[in-house]
This record gives sequence, C-alpha cells and structure tokens, in this order.
Amino acid sequence: MRKHYAGIGMTSVRTRDRLIERLRTEGIRDEHVLAAMAAVPRHIFVDEALASRAYEDTALPIGAGQTISQPYIVARMTEALVHGKRLSNVLEVGSGCGYQSAVLAQLVERVYAVERIDALIAPARERLHALGVSNVRMRNADGFDGWPAHAPYDGILVAAAPGYVPQALVEQLAVGGRLVIPVGAQGDQYLQMLVRTESGVEEETLARVSFVPLVPGIG
Ligand code: SAH
Repeated sequence: MRKHYAGIGMTSVRTRDRLIERLRTEGIRDEHVLAAMAAVPRHIFVDEALASRAYEDTALPIGAGQTISQPYIVARMTEALVHGKRLSNVLEVGSGCGYQSAVLAQLVERVYAVERIDALIAPARERLHALGVSNVRMRNADGFDGWPAHAPYDGILVAAAPGYVPQALVEQLAVGGRLVIPVGAQGDQYLQMLVRTESGVEEETLARVSFVPLVPGIG
C-alpha cells in the first residue's frame, strides 16, 4: 500500500517559514538555496513520531543508526556547492532519507546519489516520488568509489565524514567543479571545499562540523 504523506505542501508552511528566517540569521544568503529549503517539507523525511520536530534546526534519527542532517548544514553545504550557479551534474554521497537530494534537485539539473545502506534507498525514492522530484537517481553503492559512469561532476556533496578525501571523488570532478566534504574523526571534523583546477586542486576549510563516519563497503 502506498504511504500517505499528510500535508505535503500544506502542513507546516508557517513552521517552514520560521526555519528559513533562522537560516537567514545564521548567514545563509543565497535566495535560491533558501527557496529550495522552503520548498522541501522536511517532516516527510523523518519518522512520523518525530515529524513535529522536523523544523527544529537539529539532526534527527532516520533509522539504521543514521541521521537526517541539520537544516543549517544542508543549506550551508548546498550554498557552497552551487555558489550561485545552475549546476548540471551533481553527485551526492550518503543520501540517507533523501532530504538533501530533494533540496539539491530544486537547484541542479541532475542528481546522482549513492547510499551504502540498501534499506534506506526504497523509502528515500518513495519520498522523492511523492514530492514529484524526478531528477534524482539513487543507488546502493560505496561512496568511496563515487559513481564513475556519470562523471565528471560539476559538484560533489558528501554527507558523511571520511578520514581523508577519497581520491576517486577528486578524479570524478570536472575542472572548475567543487567537492564539499566533511573530513576527520568524530570530535575533530572540518567541512572542506575542494575546487578542481587545470593543474590540481585548491582547498578551503569552511567550518567545524559533526557528521557520521563515511563507512567503506555497502550494507
Ligand atoms: N543526506 C542525508 C544525511 C544522511 S547521514 C540527509 O539529507 O539528511 C549520512 C549517510 O551517509 C547515511 O545514510 C550513511 O548510511 C551514508 N554513508 C556512510 N558511508 C557511506 C559510503 N561509504 N557510501 C555511501 N553512503 C554512505
């Protein structure tokens, strides 16, 4: 039986607006990113029992020991990735419940998403379908390998932290493409942005962050 998503586009429009105002005061400036955050109802990506907390600016559990990222972090990473452009081809690593995928889908032409936990994929696809999002392709794979078939990407966003930047991801970046990725052990993690240039990569540290680890292999 198809699941019903109560109040898509209706419930919590006001609470969502409050979230957008909070993101603005926290420093998110890109109006397209704010509009994308406003367009995606976060409550359908979390368990019904937690839906009332969906517009708090916190990470919440999504099952299988994973979490939906904090809205501020989703907005911040998205803003850094798209930097005012309309990207055509984006790779997302660690799509989890699909929330970040849905936000990206508003802003870029095509999203290719990989997730290591197979059990999270069908529900994520179902949510995207229910929202009418049709430009995301998702598969069960190890993000350490990226998704070579659709490379090069003009943006890669990683939602779990490896100890080092996986070489395959750098290789799958187009020249001028950006990789936004948390790196480091829990308690000592930094959000990094790498830009691929003709001659190599430029790296910048954006913020101190706290993500679940990027775990090798599939589950
Ligand atoms: N993008 C999600 C956040 C998911 S949390 C959101 O919108 O809220 C991070 C996700 O990364 C988890 O679902 C976890 O299973 C996944 N992950 C961890 N290691 C991975 C790997 N090697 N390859 C792909 N996904 C991975």
